[in-house]
Amino acid sequence: MSRTTICSLLAVVFFLPACLAATAQTATPVYSVEAIRYGTIKDFPVAGLVAGADKTRHMDIAMVFWLLQGDGRNILVDSGFYRPQFFRDWKVAGYQKPSDALRSAGLQPEDITDIVITHMHWDHADGFDLFPKAHIWIQRDEYTYYTGEAWHHPRTHGGIDPDDVEAIVKANIAGNVSFVEGDDQPILPGITCYIGGKHTWQSQYVTVHAKDGTVVLASDNVYLYENLDKHVPIAATLDSQSNLAAQDRMRTLASRPEFIIPGHDPAIFSRFPVVAPGVAKID
Ligand SMILES: [Zn+2]
Ligand SMILES: [Zn+2]
Repeated sequence: MSRTTICSLLAVVFFLPACLAATAQTATPVYSVEAIRYGTIKDFPVAGLVAGADKTRHMDIAMVFWLLQGDGRNILVDSGFYRPQFFRDWKVAGYQKPSDALRSAGLQPEDITDIVITHMHWDHADGFDLFPKAHIWIQRDEYTYYTGEAWHHPRTHGGIDPDDVEAIVKANIAGNVSFVEGDDQPILPGITCYIGGKHTWQSQYVTVHAKDGTVVLASDNVYLYENLDKHVPIAATLDSQSNLAAQDRMRTLASRPEFIIPGHDPAIFSRFPVVAPGVAKID
C-alpha cells in the first residue's frame, strides 16, 4: 500500500467520523407545530385584549396550547388549566381537560417530554402537572417574582393562582424545572425563547424551527391578530412600548407574517387546517 493510500485511509478513519459528528451537531431538527384548543370563553370584552378597543365589543376567545413534535421530543408550549376554582370564575364552553385534548393529536399525557411555560397566568401554567414526565422551562425572573415578591402586595399577582405557584415550587424541588436566562435563549435544538413585552413580570414567547421556516408562538404577548394588524399593544401589559417592540421583533423572526401565532384568537382554527377535533396544523 502506498504512503498516499495509507494517508487517505487514515484521513477517512479519523476525520470522516469527526466531520459527520459536526454535521449532526449543526443540523437543526424540524418540528411539526399544532395548536390544540381545549375550550372557549364566550363574550370576552375585546377591550381586555386590545388596548383602546371599543368597550361594547365582545368576542368568543379560544383557550389554546401548542404541541411541537420533532427530534424525539413532544413539547408543549403552555398547558391550559384544569383546577376546579377556575370553573367557579369562568364559564368555559366546549371544555376538555388539556391532557384529554392532547389525545386528539394522538398523544398520551406521559408522552410529553417538555413544557415551555410562557407565563404564570392560570390559563397557561395550571395544567403542567397533568403531564407526569414533562420537564418545565420558565423564565428565571418569572419564576422568582411569582414565587416571591409578587405576593408582598395585593395588586401584583393578578391572574396567578397560589396552587400553581405551589405546584411549580414542588416541581422545582423535584428537579423538573429549568430556568431560561432572559432573551434569545435556545433551550433545545430548534427551540428558542424570547422575553415578551411584559404581559406578566417576565413573559416569554417561543420560536420553533418548522418545515417551512420559523414559527413564532406569541402566546399572550399578542392576544389577537388584531393586535398585529392594527399595531396596538395588548390591553394587559406592564409596559405598552415594550409589548409593541416585542411584536415588531416577532415580525423579524417569523419566516412569514402568518407564522406569528397569537394566544387566544379563534381565527387560528380557520386560518390553518383543522386536522383533528380542536387541532390546527400550523406547519
Ligand atoms: Zn396571560
Ligand atoms: Zn391567556
